[in-house]
Amino acid sequence: MKPGKELSVHLQAHRSSTMALILTVFVMLMLLSLDALAQLNMDRINPNNPDNRQDNVNVQQQPFRMIDNIWWVGHSEVGSLLIISEEGHFLIDSTAEHDVHWVVENIISAGFRLEDIKYILNTHTHHEHMSGIPKLQKLLPHATIVASKESAEVMGTGGKTDFRYMMDGNRDHLFEPFQVDRIIGHQEQLTLGDVTLMAHITPGHTEGTTTWTLDVEEGGKTYNAVMFGGISASGVDRAPLLNNPFYPNIKEDYEFSLKYLANLECDVFLTYRAPTINLHEKLARLEQGDYQVNPFVDPEGCELYLDFYEKRFRTQLQEEGAAAQ
Ligand SMILES: [Zn+2]
Repeated sequence: MKPGKELSVHLQAHRSSTMALILTVFVMLMLLSLDALAQLNMDRINPNNPDNRQDNVNVQQQPFRMIDNIWWVGHSEVGSLLIISEEGHFLIDSTAEHDVHWVVENIISAGFRLEDIKYILNTHTHHEHMSGIPKLQKLLPHATIVASKESAEVMGTGGKTDFRYMMDGNRDHLFEPFQVDRIIGHQEQLTLGDVTLMAHITPGHTEGTTTWTLDVEEGGKTYNAVMFGGISASGVDRAPLLNNPFYPNIKEDYEFSLKYLANLECDVFLTYRAPTINLHEKLARLEQGDYQVNPFVDPEGCELYLDFYEKRFRTQLQEEGAAAQ
């Protein structure tokens, strides 16, 4: 055989084994993507699934009035609520530092003035909900930042004293530290004009998690609106409920909060994640006028949400208890 021929045979053999490899990888990728697709659909079926975190596919969301004086100014996945009054406005949650410009744009495009925001509040100290606050602080130096004592502490350290960070050391969860102007306690109120918000400290998801409530009116009826601060148990790898050296009272705190929230009157179901409250579906119904009662009036949603997380909490507790024996 001539050297040239030998090379060509060798190359041909090489080519067919490369083809086989490409084919194998292709089939594997197909199977993987089918699996991923199935998983994604599963997640979508269950909007309460906290693992359904689509932070990476956030897109800007047109601001809109949810009910009465409550506006969604967050993005497609994570909430930021603007609550307006004639004497100024409240803003609950900023979204993440890299998304807060959307919140600012939304407030302006909805026709409100930044300088009318008097209070910046939050649900809990996970970065995707409040790491935009330092940027807002620079834009709105006159606004008062209000937080629970425990949340204020975590904000002051940029997340370094959050128990989950102390446990896993994941620096992705850190943020620019900032100081809070005013500490708010359990069942304390904030009033602007004729709008009053009440803070309920509902610890567990974080030590300072805060649920906010207010009365809203529509169609001549008064409804209790509840902005849940977060009640999901994060799993044994992120937040063990038993023998947790970084949060010794975690189990008791969850027990308290789950019971407390179940006793709270809830008509308007609000949280900081769009999928959890079926935001896009409710918005579509709102836009089409396809309702008799505003779709955000959803007492059943409040109940299902609490039931779902109560079950998760009990399951995690049981698994941890069994593993310890
Ligand atoms: Zn969280």
